[in-house]
Amino acid sequence: MNATIITVGEELLIGQVVDTNAAWLSNRLYWLGICVRNVITVGDKEEDIHRALKQVWPANDLTVITGGLGPTPDDRTREAVAGYFHRRLELDAALVRQFEEEYVRRGLTMPPANARMALIPKGFESLPNPAGAAPGLLYEDSSCGMLFVVPGVPDEMKAIFKTSIEPRISLHGAASTSVHRTLCTAGKSESSLAAELADLTERYRIAFLPSPGQVRVRLTTSGAKAGKNLDVLEVLIRTRIGDCVFGIESDTLEAALGTLLKKRGYTIAVAESCTGGCVLDMLTNVAGSSEYLRGGVIAYANDIKRSALGVQHKTLQRYGAVSKAVALEMAHGVRDRLDADVGLSVTGIAGPGGGTREKPVGTVWIGYVDREGAEAKLIRLGKNRRRNKTASAVLALDMVRRKLSMT
Ligand code: ATP
Repeated sequence: MNATIITVGEELLIGQVVDTNAAWLSNRLYWLGICVRNVITVGDKEEDIHRALKQVWPANDLTVITGGLGPTPDDRTREAVAGYFHRRLELDAALVRQFEEEYVRRGLTMPPANARMALIPKGFESLPNPAGAAPGLLYEDSSCGMLFVVPGVPDEMKAIFKTSIEPRISLHGAASTSVHRTLCTAGKSESSLAAELADLTERYRIAFLPSPGQVRVRLTTSGAKAGKNLDVLEVLIRTRIGDCVFGIESDTLEAALGTLLKKRGYTIAVAESCTGGCVLDMLTNVAGSSEYLRGGVIAYANDIKRSALGVQHKTLQRYGAVSKAVALEMAHGVRDRLDADVGLSVTGIAGPGGGTREKPVGTVWIGYVDREGAEAKLIRLGKNRRRNKTASAVLALDMVRRKLSMT
């Protein structure tokens, strides 16, 4: 089954509001096995909406329009759709009463303009809105497909999708036999992973979705044995890059690490320089992280590295702040001073300035200390400051994950 999403709103075209509806709908439809072929964004005018409908109707199995169903005069989607299909708008008196009762319940009088939201194009079905007033609309034509129209307010759109649209799609047996799984990886670049899986990418549908320090690897199989083939493909991939995989679907690295720390009964403390708190931010994003996170020190200046972490003056003088020796002393210092099982540190040159020939921008040292020993790792990143900070934090947490997975 194919689908098109049409999002309506001048605010989307001028970049005032980010089109999260299209992203959310695309993802939901993807999980239902429906292929979204187009996302079209148009202005609020009826002619804009007609132009979009002309492009997709009746060529698609499923069309979803969001936005412009409200009570104000600039909300024209209802009229545009009725006009496109040459339908009269009919007032649903029961719906108006329902709106009025809701106002009475709140001790208010309904503004007369709200009655507009109870206008339903003849032959369309109205779909209850569990999160607001304006109902969704459904037009079904056995040869042309299904057209759903829902409000633009994200909560309302989602509520109608879950309660009315998804069940209709399932009723039509729309879901294809395609199945998907996403493996979450860290520590290797998209190109390294692709090289390691080169022969598999030729035979299977494998997509790589990179973000700083991490790559999500999405696997898709279809056909009668889609589920079984997906399991086989996952095993094949894990035998090659299993050390990089920390979870599936929406799992996060910090949560995966938290689980490992809890399993070992370990606590962790962090000393950060170039990441300026990103590692601690990630760790504290996990509910319940107080069980294993002792705390951290953001030691940006050299004198703070000395006073707060006990890094020696002569180490800083001899090797510089971005060095293996300083990373290790930072990790030892934070572990001792915060009385943790694991000490983790990050020191590097985030850029865009400050690099030298020996230590170019993107040079980062990560230090790790536990009761068994200490280790430091050099990573070389690019020139983008924000990306370097995020990637350094991710790779630091990944280093701990790998250490704890081994022991
Ligand atoms: P309302 O009853 O509030 O008027 P509506 O169906 O007319 O609902 P719009 O007026 O188009 O919807 O949008 C209402 C609000 O919903 C907008 O201010 C915007 O913040 C949000 N919104 C609309 N479309 C989108 C979208 N595609 N993605 C994210 N947010 C959106």
